[in-house]
Amino acid sequence: MRLLVTGGAGYVGSVVAAQLVESGHEVTVLDDLSTGHEDAVPEGARFVRGSITEAHEALAGVEAVLHFAAKSLVGESVEKPGLYWSHNLGGTLALLDAMREQGVRGIVFSSTAATYGEPERSPILETDPTRPTNPYGASKLAVDTALTAYAGLYGLGAVSLRYFNVAGAYGRYRERHAIETHLIPNVLKVATGERESVSVFGTDYPTDDGTCVRDYVHVADLAVAHLLALEALSLGEHKIYNLGSGAGFSVQEVISVCREVTGHDIPAVLGARRAGDPAVLVASSEKIRRELGWKAERASLRDIVSDAWGALSGKSV
Ligand code: UDP
Repeated sequence: MRLLVTGGAGYVGSVVAAQLVESGHEVTVLDDLSTGHEDAVPEGARFVRGSITEAHEALAGVEAVLHFAAKSLVGESVEKPGLYWSHNLGGTLALLDAMREQGVRGIVFSSTAATYGEPERSPILETDPTRPTNPYGASKLAVDTALTAYAGLYGLGAVSLRYFNVAGAYGRYRERHAIETHLIPNVLKVATGERESVSVFGTDYPTDDGTCVRDYVHVADLAVAHLLALEALSLGEHKIYNLGSGAGFSVQEVISVCREVTGHDIPAVLGARRAGDPAVLVASSEKIRRELGWKAERASLRDIVSDAWGALSGKSV
C-alpha cells in the first residue's frame, strides 16, 4: 500500500515505518523534526520535512495514514496545555481535513493509556471510563472522539491503538529523546555513565514494593500491531485497542532487571512521588488478541531491556 507515516522520524514511528518498508509497503515519512531525527527515517522510505498541518501534497496518492506526530510529555502538557491542544488536536483535525480533500480514507492513530487517567480496576479494558488527568491524555482522547465522529459522518476507517509503556529497540531504532522522562532509558543512562543515579519517584504506593507498576510492551511487538491494524481498517468504523503485554512490573523490578542485563550497580535514589502517576497501569490486550490475532511475542522484561541496552551501547541486536 502507499502509506503516509507522520512522526516517522520519532521512536515508535520509525520502528513502524521500518517494518512497513520491510513488508513491501511504499512509505512516505512526514516529520517536522521537532523531536525526531532524520537519520531514524528508514532506508527505503521517502522523507518529507514538514508539519501535519501542511500534509496536503504528501497525501497525494496515499491509501492510508499512520499518525504518530504529536507532543507527548505529560509534564509539559500541564505547563503548556495550549501547545498540546493545538498540536495534538488542532494538528490532527487539519490532517483529517487534508485527508478528506485528498480522498484518503484510512488512519491508524497512536493513542495512549493516558486517555484512561486513574483506573478503577486492573487490567484496564477499552470499555472502562476515560478520565484523563492531564492535557496530553485529554488531547489524545479528543482525537479518539473526533475519529469516531468522522467514521460515522464521512465513512473514515480508523483504528486507535492505546499504548501502555513502550520500551526496547528494533535494530538500530531506539528511544532518543532530548528530554528523557521515561524510566528504562533513564535507568540505562546510569549504566552508560550519562547519569550518576536514577530517581525512584515514590515508594509509598499501594503495591508490593511501594513503587509504581507499569505494563511494558516491546516496541517491535507494538509495531506489529500497527500492521495488523492497517489490515483491519474498515470504512465507517473506528476501532479502539489497548496495547500492553498484560503483565505489570514495579519501578524497583525494572531497575533490578537493568542491573542484571547491564552488569552495572545502577545506584537508585528513593524520592518523592511524581505528580499525576497512578499506582498501577496494566492493560487488558484481550480485545486486540481476539479481533486482530496480536500478541506480545517479546513480553519478558529482560528481552525488552536487553534490546534497549543493545541498541544504546552499540552492541548488535
Ligand atoms: N519513574 C521513576 N524514575 C524515572 C522515570 C520514571 O521512578 O526517572 C517512574 C514513574 O514515576 C512511573 C514509572 O517509572 O511510575 C514509569 O514512568 P514512565 O515515565 O517511564 O512512563 P509513564 O508510566 O509515566 O507513561
